[in-house]
Parts: sequence; structure tokens; C-alpha cells
Amino acid sequence: MTRRGTGTNQEAVRRHNLGTVLRSVHRTGRTTRASLTTQMALNRSTIGGLAATLEELGLVRSSGPVTSRSGAGRPSAGLEVVSRRAYVLAIDVGVDRVVVGRVGLGCDVEVRTRVNLPPEPAPAHVAETIVDLVATVRADAPPESSLVGIGISVPGVVRQSDGVVLFAPNLGWHEVPFEQLVRERLDLDVAHVLANDADLGALAEHVRGAGVDVDHLVYVSGDVGVGAGVITAGRPLGGAGGFAGEMGHMSYDPNGRHCHCGNRGCWETEIGAVAIARAIGAPADVVPTLDVVLDAFDGPSESLHEIARHVGHGLANVVNLLNPEVVVLGGYLASLHRLVEPQILTAMRRGVMAAPGAQVRLTRPALGRDSVLLGAAEAAFEALLADPAGVLAG
Ligand SMILES: [Zn+2]
Repeated sequence: MTRRGTGTNQEAVRRHNLGTVLRSVHRTGRTTRASLTTQMALNRSTIGGLAATLEELGLVRSSGPVTSRSGAGRPSAGLEVVSRRAYVLAIDVGVDRVVVGRVGLGCDVEVRTRVNLPPEPAPAHVAETIVDLVATVRADAPPESSLVGIGISVPGVVRQSDGVVLFAPNLGWHEVPFEQLVRERLDLDVAHVLANDADLGALAEHVRGAGVDVDHLVYVSGDVGVGAGVITAGRPLGGAGGFAGEMGHMSYDPNGRHCHCGNRGCWETEIGAVAIARAIGAPADVVPTLDVVLDAFDGPSESLHEIARHVGHGLANVVNLLNPEVVVLGGYLASLHRLVEPQILTAMRRGVMAAPGAQVRLTRPALGRDSVLLGAAEAAFEALLADPAGVLAG
């Protein structure tokens, strides 16, 4: 019994190590056996065995000797990701559109397609749209490439345990079992992950964007509403029910405007897309594409100074609460940041305490408009990265 138990344990350890090697190659695109040996504190022959198994699975390939980034030490045999052996479907449901991408290992977006949505779309309509888009992006997938997961982003509050969208105010959804709706219609036997858009944006910026090597990051996204994803000590901050990060609904002005969450004076009522469109005199129908409008904005930036002040003031609260190293402003907030960065910074500095204020850097996404889509892909790859051989054998 003991020996059998030990064998099972060894198998679990090997599976874990196989996943760790694959995760490293997936994240960096290319690494060396020497650097894996150092990172994982394993000997060279163990690393060699793990690399050989991943090579047999077709997920990585050996490359010629590579000198370390610092140029120090002897060149070591390289290991590269093979993006075409496994792919995921990354699905980004926005307020006005659905984007579906076929994303290869290493987060290589091989193909993407998008369809606009009507205002307040019915969940079943969105699920059926996804089925059509998935068929399109899968049509020319390489025959040797296996589908290993599906990641779905929604702009709303998601209950992780059963994939129910509890509340997505800008879609008009309450208590929608959206993961189940999509799963039943797609009928694909792989892991499905449904998550909040800002949480996924934070994940992608942490893994391969503005927050690489940063353990404390906040991603604040503007996509009609305002959401946020938080990485703290290198891990996503979920809270008791996975609902943490609803910064758009911070109580900001108790006597302020009515918010569609039911409260009054949330931060979103001052810096949401509706408030910004009003400030620059743009019609209400541009709200879902405010990022594009702001990127082309050539009006007086003074019209945005009041909004910038509210953005900075709210961010001061975020920085005082969470002490992040990096705050990434995504969606239309990135476009706003480009226009009025000094005003945002001045307002933030006024409200922030000295110690956390000295440590924080405010920036735009390194992944541009793809943070959320790539976050959905990262979440979908998690099953393969946890157990490469098991998932490909299944
Ligand atoms: Zn609210």
C-alpha cells in the first residue's frame, strides 16, 4: 500500500512539474534548460526528461543553444513553444459586440472574428452568435491542433462556482446561467471558464503585459461601465464570492447621480462612458465605442479635466486600499489617460498617502485592446497547463 501510495504521489509530482515547464515556455515563448533547472531547483536530467515528454506531446520543440539574457554563463539548449499543437477559444462578450479568437499555445491569436450586438441582447441570442463565430474560427484549424479549453469574458458580476452572470447592468442581464447556455449549444467536451472582463484583463496584463514580474497590480477597465481586476501577492483577489474589484461601484458621492446598480453616486456615475460622452458633448449612441471616439478626439482637453480629476481622486482610494505597484487603465480609460494624464496624476497625488503613492506607477495596457481576449485565453489554457499529458490524452 505504501509503495503504491508513493508511486501515485510521484506521478502527481511529475504531472505538476510537467505543467510548470510548459507554463514557463507558454509564458515566455522560449526558455533554456539551464534557466528551468535554476527556477525549479531540479537536476538537469529531470528537466531533460520533462522536456522530452513535452516534445513527444508536440507542445514544445528543442532549439539551438541560447545565451542567457544577461549574457552570462554558457549557452544552454533552448526550448520553444509550438503554438499549433493546442489551442483555446477566447470569447469576449462586450456591451456592443462579441469577439471570438482561436488562440494557440503561447497566446498566439491565430484568427479572430467579431459581430456587433444589439442593445441589451438576449442571452440566448449571444450564445447562438458565439456558436456561429466558433464554427468560423475552427473551420481552418490545423488538423494536428487540439482544442483544450474555452474562456468566456462578460462585463458583469460572475458567480464562479456555477458560471452564472449575477448582474451585467450594461447587457441588462440578471441571474443568467450563461456558461451553461454556451456549453449546451457548443457541445464541446473541454473545460469552460466564465469570468469577469476586468479580472481577465488583469490576468493577461500580469502574465504577459504591463505587469510582468509585478506581484501587485490593479487593472481598471472602462467599457461603458467601470470594473477592476486585482492581482495581489501574485494571485487574483476574488473575495469570499469572487466578486471583489467592483470599483466602479465604490460609493463616491452619496448625493450624486443614480447608478444602474441601484445605488447613488457610484464612481462610475462620474467616470463612466455616459458621463464622459456628456462632458465632451457627444451623442449617447457613441457610448459603447467611446474608446474610438476619444482616440480621435480633437476638442479642447479642458472639457475632460473634471473627469480626469474624478478618475485621479478615485484612483487615490484604490492605491490607499491596495498598495499596487502598477495600475493599468484599460478600455476607454486608456484613451482618456492619453489625453489627460497630467490631470489624472495631479488629482491622484493629492489624495494618495505618501508611502503607497511613492510605489505606484500608472500606465496603459501593454496588450492594447487585447487584454481581455488574451485573459480569456489564459484562463482557458489553465487546464492544459495544470496537466498537459492528461488533457491531451483525454
Ligand atoms: Zn453603482
